[in-house]
Amino acid sequence: MPRDPRYDILFEPVRIGPVTAPNRFYQTPHATGFGWQRPQSGAALRGVKAEGGWGVVCTEYCSIHPSSDDSPHAFLTLWDDHDIAPLALTAEAIHAHGSLAGIELWHGGAHASNRMTRVPGIAPMTQPALYHLPATARAMDLSDIRAFRGWQRDAARRARQAGFDIVYVYAGHDYLPFQFLSRRTNQRADAYGGSLENRVRLLREMIEDTKDAVGDTCAVAVRLAVDELHGPEGITSEGEGREIIAMLAELPDLWDVNVAGALGNDSRSARFSAEGFQEENVAFVKSLTSKPVVSVGRFTSPDRMVSQIRRGVQDFIGAARPSIADPFLPAKIREGREDEIRECIGCNICRAANNEGVGLRCTQNPTMGEEWRRGWHPERIAVHPRRERALVIGGGPAGLEAALTLGRRGLEVALAEASDRFGGRLLREATLPGLQTWLRVRDWRLHMLGKLENVDLYPASPMTAADVTGFGADHVVLATGSHWRRDGVGVYAIRPLDLPEALTPDDVFAGTPIAGPVVIYDDEHYFMGGALAEKLAVAGHEVHYVTTAALVSSWTVMTNEQDFLQARLIEAGVKLHPLKALISHDSGIATLACVYTGRTEPLPCATLILATGRLPDSALADELSSAGIAASRIGDCLAPSSIADAVHSAHRFARLLGEPDLPPRREMPPERSP
Ligand code: ADP
Ligand code: SF4
Repeated sequence: MPRDPRYDILFEPVRIGPVTAPNRFYQTPHATGFGWQRPQSGAALRGVKAEGGWGVVCTEYCSIHPSSDDSPHAFLTLWDDHDIAPLALTAEAIHAHGSLAGIELWHGGAHASNRMTRVPGIAPMTQPALYHLPATARAMDLSDIRAFRGWQRDAARRARQAGFDIVYVYAGHDYLPFQFLSRRTNQRADAYGGSLENRVRLLREMIEDTKDAVGDTCAVAVRLAVDELHGPEGITSEGEGREIIAMLAELPDLWDVNVAGALGNDSRSARFSAEGFQEENVAFVKSLTSKPVVSVGRFTSPDRMVSQIRRGVQDFIGAARPSIADPFLPAKIREGREDEIRECIGCNICRAANNEGVGLRCTQNPTMGEEWRRGWHPERIAVHPRRERALVIGGGPAGLEAALTLGRRGLEVALAEASDRFGGRLLREATLPGLQTWLRVRDWRLHMLGKLENVDLYPASPMTAADVTGFGADHVVLATGSHWRRDGVGVYAIRPLDLPEALTPDDVFAGTPIAGPVVIYDDEHYFMGGALAEKLAVAGHEVHYVTTAALVSSWTVMTNEQDFLQARLIEAGVKLHPLKALISHDSGIATLACVYTGRTEPLPCATLILATGRLPDSALADELSSAGIAASRIGDCLAPSSIADAVHSAHRFARLLGEPDLPPRREMPPERSP
């Protein structure tokens, strides 16, 4: 298909100081979980982005000195010349596809934990180290500031030697240069504190130093949080954020702007932000500078991208998550295949990977993070040597992904789903507040399946063992999903409880009547308990949320959603009972026990809902096994987990069919690499 001419504007080259981006697609810096330890994994990941058409591809944060060490999280380093060769792998992988390579030089200041290096942290003023309690970041004196400027210069020079085209001065996300900018974190009395002019001094010097170091051949970009969302006591886009841009307007070659304060603010999940949500805070920047501006906003719609450019909001389409969910997003628009864009669902599983200290992963894109270690490519897959027949049973995320991937490999595929609608758990979960975008997991797969002539879809087809035998497939794949358990077994309570009147989330979705007061018992700790509490409170019920954890939906700390979520439940009037285990439920009373002391308390409860864990739907698997029919289980019917894990499990099965199941490659000294 030829490209829609409406989108031509997205493919115009844009000059950034001494370099030129081939188009307006700009992959802003984002974490990969690979860092300096896994340079080949990082290079392969960025290379695939460039191959997919992103005109600029940036690295994650790259520490300029051992006093900025974010261990155990993965980060890059440019501490000495040994860092140049591994980073050059990334620059080369990006250049191989004609894109520009950007590198985000970083110093975390009081945010750096320095757990690995054990170097005392530094900050504009003496303050508790934010991730390394009970340590203290010491106040930088003028000689520290001089040394710091030298580290930035040296790192910039090394970045150029490694082949990068765009070098960042990173004044966002509460890191060191930003700590100097904000009154909240800078109460110095010298030339670097007090007036805004003084607080901006270090940033101005860093831009000048970086330009001196590399500015004749590399562009110098500034990443600035123009609003730290702390109201008038901090930087705001109506106040000092605007003044900073005005003061430094023409100094850098590019402005990469966002709302920040904490990291979670500019990568809010879909539950807490819509596409383009930062526009009202960042749109003013272009009116104050002639330099190109980039910002992010989970952009997946080409029309919205064009609108951003035409309305003068920004010059590039900045993206982290959309480029993770679909590294080939630009190529698809370029080739008139925009209907094939695999849209980010805004679930923030990608953020969780970095927070958990593991390689990048994505709900929509199972190949993300697997480019080097498993050799998976998002758009290419080996055709299966024989045109065998596969029967996939269950049309949730796992079944849809398996059918699609087996179909792409050229097998004859039948996908049978009991319900008259495909989607499985997504159909229920997308009815929870803010989770409608999760249906994109189904929609993209169904759309792509519709293009494959070798795949037949059979909705409203509950399969029995006899049906399976009658079908006579070469491969039987079970993706029959899971259900919520009724026995209260969860992370805390390992022994079943006797709770005959309890409901599960499945009952709530099925429309079982609910009377108040409602008690939701969350011993699973991801989204379900908290989201149900919100839904029922908004519907007017008196809702008590009980959890064995200290926080609401405590695992969502990993997806950077937890603080937003807890605030939302408080605002919705949900009564929170943290650190309590459910002991019994009888005659309208739930008995709770403190997880520390065991002291019990009664809680009136007309409806008890248990979100404690799920069990595989394995009836068909058991029947087939008794009948001696071989079948492979994937997704939740193998081991209930996140949608991301179900999709990955299905993809892995389909990719490996007929292939040896080798352990993933690990980055080892060259002479030992397999
Ligand atoms: P996953 O996340 O692993 O994809 P889901 O629970 O989302 O799991 O989806 C499982 C799907 O399997 C559901 O849509 C369910 O209706 C379907 N299913 C379960 N048992 C059968 C069966 N015997 N025949 C056909 N479909 C089934
Ligand atoms: Fe988007 Fe979720 Fe993938 Fe992150 S994990 S890129 S939020 S779909």
